[in-house]
Amino acid sequence: MTSSVVRPMVGRDSAFFWEGTAVGELRIQKCNKCGALRFPPGPACPECGALDRGHIVASGRGTVFSYIVHRHPPVPGKDLPIVIALIDLDEGVRMVGEVVDVADTEIAIDLPLQVDFRRVDDDLTLPIWRLSSVGPVETTIEETP
Ligand code: ZN
Repeated sequence: MTSSVVRPMVGRDSAFFWEGTAVGELRIQKCNKCGALRFPPGPACPECGALDRGHIVASGRGTVFSYIVHRHPPVPGKDLPIVIALIDLDEGVRMVGEVVDVADTEIAIDLPLQVDFRRVDDDLTLPIWRLSSVGPVETTIEETP
């Protein structure tokens, strides 16, 4: 059965990212020539133009750069409101993600977060973000209820 969530585009440039989330890794594309990190993934390095690309596994920590609380319109497979944040990763790139377990009244700029994963189905595991705890980031892949 395919879940009715909004599905991301998985293409040649982003396959490594989704292969990572499936095994509980948050991957960031890295230029193999100059070492620059980039998100979202793309075919060429914006710093040096090289096409030789690899990735690193992020620490899974970041802070809220900005956020929205989505109350309307309805989103397939979601109970509203949901909190969507732009997250500055410790590695220096910024990505968007859903913040769970943080109330819409408690989300704030600079709030420390850590990544976790939610398995939607066999083809899709989404990164989600929780309030950061002390110590190393230990992720789990939770099943979609
Ligand atoms: Zn480069």
